[in-house]
Amino acid sequence: MLHVAEPVLGAEEKVALAEVVDSNWITMGPRVEAFERAFADMHGAKDAVAVCSCTAGLHLLLDALGIGPGDEVLVPSLTFVATVNAVLYVGATPVFVDLESLDRPLMSLQDAAARRTPRTRAIILMHYGGYLAPVAPWREFAHRHGLTVMEDSAHAVGVAGVGSYGDGAAFSFYGNKNMTTAEGGMVIARDDEVLARVRQLRGHGMTSGTFQRLNARTPTYDVTMLGFNYRMDELRAAIGRAQLEHLPDWNERRRTLSNAYRDLLAQYCPQVAMPFAKGDRSSHHIAAVILPPRCDREAVIDGLRNAGIQTTIHYPPVHELSYYRERFPETKLPVSEAFGQRELTLPLHPRMTEEHMHHVVRTLATLV
Ligand SMILES: *Cc1c(COP(=O)(O)O)cnc(C)c1O
Repeated sequence: MLHVAEPVLGAEEKVALAEVVDSNWITMGPRVEAFERAFADMHGAKDAVAVCSCTAGLHLLLDALGIGPGDEVLVPSLTFVATVNAVLYVGATPVFVDLESLDRPLMSLQDAAARRTPRTRAIILMHYGGYLAPVAPWREFAHRHGLTVMEDSAHAVGVAGVGSYGDGAAFSFYGNKNMTTAEGGMVIARDDEVLARVRQLRGHGMTSGTFQRLNARTPTYDVTMLGFNYRMDELRAAIGRAQLEHLPDWNERRRTLSNAYRDLLAQYCPQVAMPFAKGDRSSHHIAAVILPPRCDREAVIDGLRNAGIQTTIHYPPVHELSYYRERFPETKLPVSEAFGQRELTLPLHPRMTEEHMHHVVRTLATLV
């Protein structure tokens, strides 16, 4: 089976894990710190905080930025549910915003402006597929209305400029992302104090961690805020460092493959569209395509599966999921809904070959 996503794991990860086991220190310590430094360097940040998931990172950022009950947060509906769940975790209210277009499935600034109210406090941008949202207009909009800007950067690890839009960004190292620690995430923030708060919230709100206390003069701690256990461990950090080294090459390979998809689709099934354009800056996290109107997507999925090709959907819009539909029944987002109905995600990962891509596109051409 040709999978939609696959991690690249091998000898380096095995060695990294063995080193941690031999060191006999497996919880948050020097390897987590080293991973944070390397990640910050790659993303042009001063510092970074490793956490147990991107979801945890989004939660902590919202908390550290003081978003809470009574605040409205503008969010895309075309995202993974975690983006919106995080808003509910802090007691704030998500306000769903529609997309620019089927061809540019990023949150629409025009629709965001229309849905802004005096209670709007923050925006969470999501770089769909690793394609960055336009930075200048969002900054200008946020500045004009005094809004906090966060980035759900789960798709955009390693892309130049990601994490620099506003107040903070959270990244994911889940198994299907461009680099992985199995489960894991990272937070960067513009303000040192916000990041320090994220760091403290990650470990129960304690003023020091176990590893620091090992070498400290006073082996005690205080708790000065209501925190969580969202720590990363040394095993994951060791894998993360090994993965990070390869990330630029993997993202470059993804770019090559993604461009090849564009060319092959244009040649063999021009009725299938690929959002965004060839030169757009991206981590090429997924190969999302838009099927023709009235195409039977289930039949296409079955046909591809019979040819050994896995596909998925990114995403069923969050406002159409039962829990959210019941909580926010009035939400109508025509572009997100059409995108959710017509989108199909084809396999894309660094170990794919040109032959694989031909097989996918030629099979797809027989089905649409
Ligand atoms: C994967 C993903 C998340 C969640 O990441 P975890 O690390 O699994 O918590 C959040 N948002 C988006 C857009 C994602 O793709």
